[in-house]
Amino acid sequence: MTPPLMDLPLAMPYGWRLMVDTLTRSRRSWLMSQVRQKDTKPEMVVRRLLHSMGFRYRLHSKELPGCPDLVFSKSKRVIFVHGCYWHRHDCKKASVPSSNVEYWTKKFAENVARDNKVLSKLTSLGWESMIVWECQTRDADALASSLSAFFQN
Ligand SMILES: [Zn+2]
Repeated sequence: MTPPLMDLPLAMPYGWRLMVDTLTRSRRSWLMSQVRQKDTKPEMVVRRLLHSMGFRYRLHSKELPGCPDLVFSKSKRVIFVHGCYWHRHDCKKASVPSSNVEYWTKKFAENVARDNKVLSKLTSLGWESMIVWECQTRDADALASSLSAFFQN
C-alpha cells in the first residue's frame, strides 16, 4: 500500500530510506504485540522446569504449524506457553480494554481462532499439544504435575 503523500516529510533528503509510519497507534501496538517474544519470563519458567525434569527439546520450531515454543520430536509433543491476555485465557488477566471495545473484541477473536486452527493442524499431523498459560507458571509444583501428566499418556 502506498502511503498518502501528505504523510511524507517535505524536505526529505534524496535517497533516504522511507520510514513512514502509516499505522494508527492502536494498530501499531497490536502488531508489535503479535511479534513473537522469545524468552519471555513464563516461557523461561517452563523451560527451566522441564529441563530440571530431564526433558530435552527444541525451541520455536518453524517447521511446525504455529511455531511451537517447545518441541519434543521423539514423543511428537509440543508445548505452547501462552500469554493470558493475548490468547484469551479464561482468567482475570484476560481483561478487555475499555476503549475501542469492538475493535479489540474482533482482534482477540482472531487470535483465538488462529490458535485453534494451529492446534487442529498439529493434531492432524499426529502431534500432541499442550498449552501452558502464563498464570499457571506461578505455581511450579502444579505445573510440574501437569507437565508430567502430558508426557505420560
Ligand atoms: Zn491465565
